[in-house]
Amino acid sequence: MVLNFDALEKIIDIPAEVRKVLERPEKETRFNINVVDEAGKLHSFDAYVVYHSLSRGPAKGGIRLSTTVTLEETQVLAELMTYKTALVKLPFGGGKSGICFDPTKYSRVVKENVIREYVKYVQKDLAADLYVPAPDMGSGPKEMAVIYREMNNRPEVVTGKPVSIGGLPGRTEATGFGVATATREGIKNILKREVAGTTVAVQGFGNVGSWTARFLAEMGAKVVAVADISGGYYSSAGLDVLAMQEACLAKGGCLLKELEGHGFGQPLTNDDLLTMDVDVLIPAACENVITGDNAEDVKAKLIVEAANGPVTPSADAILARKGIHVIPDILANSGGVIGSYVEWRKGKTGGIVEAHQTLSTIERLITGSMEDVITLATEKNTSLRLAAQGIALKEVIQATKERFGI
Ligand code: NAD
Repeated sequence: MVLNFDALEKIIDIPAEVRKVLERPEKETRFNINVVDEAGKLHSFDAYVVYHSLSRGPAKGGIRLSTTVTLEETQVLAELMTYKTALVKLPFGGGKSGICFDPTKYSRVVKENVIREYVKYVQKDLAADLYVPAPDMGSGPKEMAVIYREMNNRPEVVTGKPVSIGGLPGRTEATGFGVATATREGIKNILKREVAGTTVAVQGFGNVGSWTARFLAEMGAKVVAVADISGGYYSSAGLDVLAMQEACLAKGGCLLKELEGHGFGQPLTNDDLLTMDVDVLIPAACENVITGDNAEDVKAKLIVEAANGPVTPSADAILARKGIHVIPDILANSGGVIGSYVEWRKGKTGGIVEAHQTLSTIERLITGSMEDVITLATEKNTSLRLAAQGIALKEVIQATKERFGI
């Protein structure tokens, strides 16, 4: 279970019968995906589809392709989606798919056939608007295009498609823009200072990290450090993150190490980045990077969880004691799922959406949600994480009660 209902009971009312419904997924399925390769060899992969809650709308959640996928992981990720969508008030429930399959090890034909077999199991639910999949680790627009094709080219059944077949202008930068928006609101309303000149360090320079750094720099913040798995750079005057992102994109994506010698700043390790003396620290790479081992050394005044789960529970307790605020992942990185909502709505109505409209929807929903979360956290004297979970849970409880007429 993702939520700590016992802690949440102190700030909101949780009816016992609704708690029982939400403590486990509404539906979970395990099946084999069996595919024959070009040499005639049969391969069999475990697959899981979990719908945690359908109370607020169709289950929304990506398809993870990885050999580490398990039913338990899929359950947790589906539950997270229930609360992430509820917090920013999207008309979705929470779901997730996982296929125990390494896409880097197989041919294009095998990969495509894996997705086609997957669609056979979920097509009734997709057609009935019960589940709306999207990309997750290991899958992307190509795989979503296969689903679109298998579902008779219906754009509303899947999000994260290529733009030319109903995908969303602005989706690439959506999550980073949302993180930058949440950070801006945190700087203004929690740190009570101007964005201009606020120092920021970002771990991760992939999709989320590079766009977050770029938007924050455009807003006037001083992005003094960035790092990825290969190491990073520091400049007290602020890095030229736009030039760094463009240099990487020009190489078709790159590791920061490959930018050595371009004059982008002093070399920096990941450990140093996490404990730097900056105003805002943004972990935008992977989970469990701020832990019980390094939280004591964190000097930032505000942490923004751009990645999923970068701060462990033991670190959370240390940061709270030190008075360091954490904007939780379900709020900070919700720009991605808000973008998916805009794409789904566009698919349903046949509307035309431009990138600036996608970003303005993200800005509106995240700004509103930040205000609600800060207000509740202040009222109840609790963390931003617990307040965000409380608001999301309250939405889901209300919808569950009304759905079942209790
Ligand atoms: P990505 O693969 O584009 O980039 C990941 C970046 O993290 C890379 O720069 C990589 O070098 C770096 N990295 C990986 N492991 C690292 C480590 N141990 N130390 C330092 N750097 C490391 O991925 P992304 O799409 O940017 O996603 C980043 C995070 O944001 C993930 O946790 C993901 O689940 C989450 N997220 C992404 C989206 C989205 O729309 N892409 C939406 C919501 C949440």
